[in-house]
Amino acid sequence: QRQMCIRDRLSAQILQLRDALQAMPDVVVLMDERGQLVWVNPSGIRLLQLQWPDDVGKPLAFWLRTPNLRAFLSGEGPSSLQLAAPSDAQLFLEGVRYPLADAGALVIFRDVTRIRQLEQVRQDFVANVSHELRSPLTVVRGFLENLLDGPLAEDEEVGSQLHLMEQQTLRMQSLVEDLLSLARMEAAEAEPERCDTIIFSALIEGVLDTLKPNISEKRLKIHKHLDETLGIFAEQVDLTSIVRNLLENAIKYTPAGRSISISWGRGPDGLRLTVQDTGDGIATEHLQRITERFYRVDKGRSRRMGGTGLGLAIVRHAVERYQGHLEVHSEIGQGAVFTALFPLSLARSAVSGENVS
Ligand code: ADP
Repeated sequence: QRQMCIRDRLSAQILQLRDALQAMPDVVVLMDERGQLVWVNPSGIRLLQLQWPDDVGKPLAFWLRTPNLRAFLSGEGPSSLQLAAPSDAQLFLEGVRYPLADAGALVIFRDVTRIRQLEQVRQDFVANVSHELRSPLTVVRGFLENLLDGPLAEDEEVGSQLHLMEQQTLRMQSLVEDLLSLARMEAAEAEPERCDTIIFSALIEGVLDTLKPNISEKRLKIHKHLDETLGIFAEQVDLTSIVRNLLENAIKYTPAGRSISISWGRGPDGLRLTVQDTGDGIATEHLQRITERFYRVDKGRSRRMGGTGLGLAIVRHAVERYQGHLEVHSEIGQGAVFTALFPLSLARSAVSGENVS
């Protein structure tokens, strides 16, 4: 009698639990250890367009055709995954996988359409405002240059005020350009159609050439270790931004007479671009946040040096467009080492353009 009672209570509880999962707007999928469907709630049936119960025992990767899906479902790939819902391409789902104790896994997909839309609105807004500011700034700068060339600038006080105005206009212009560049990097992953085999060593030499005045002004020594045979399949603008921003920082934050090293080559874990300086370094507590927009260790100093506070955010986003990542190592007084790590699959022969991953 007592056992019956416990059993009834248990089955009532199981039914309650099932009802709760059934009512959830999120997609709840239970998979066995081979990635095959065990159970799915009604939201899942609707959004993933499954046939219940006919699809039980079929692999989930069978319906959801998206890159990385197999790796994600097996638990070896990314820990979360975004995909368009099979039922409606306008809906965006984000999946998270929770391994269960007896193998198998629980996969939950949430509707993140609204969050993505808001993110898009934010990005578009920043890009539009920056774009609109471009022309007025060009006009103001043009007239200021005229005034600086004219008789008005001969008056010492007026001349120095005009110079200040010109400096601030230049600052605003670089801010606008950096914001546009960041918006572009954030907007999407790199598109293979726009990519090409880039001879990275030549690109680095090119950027170093444009920075020559700053380098010689501070009498900095540049050490280069560039693998000239190693090309990379990427968009030129992205790589230029990465190299330029990292080198500009190294030059800015290294005292005169010291040295900077730049290297490019293949490592065991990816293609590595490393820029190492011999400046004052960055304290550990700042390292985590240094690639956030407008994060500066010393606001006044960064401004004086003409920094916008966006350089490293641009670098990070540019590297992430290729599923790569940016590593920073530094200690106070020991200089800083910035490494952009790209997937090996982007390796190309600098001679033939052949895939050499
Ligand atoms: P900024 O335009 O201010 O240089 P960044 O995004 O490029 O903006 O860098 C953010 C902050 O990180 C800088 O303000 C500076 O404090 C610090 N930083 C960047 N690069 C270096 C470096 N090579 N050495 C020391 N500090 C650095």
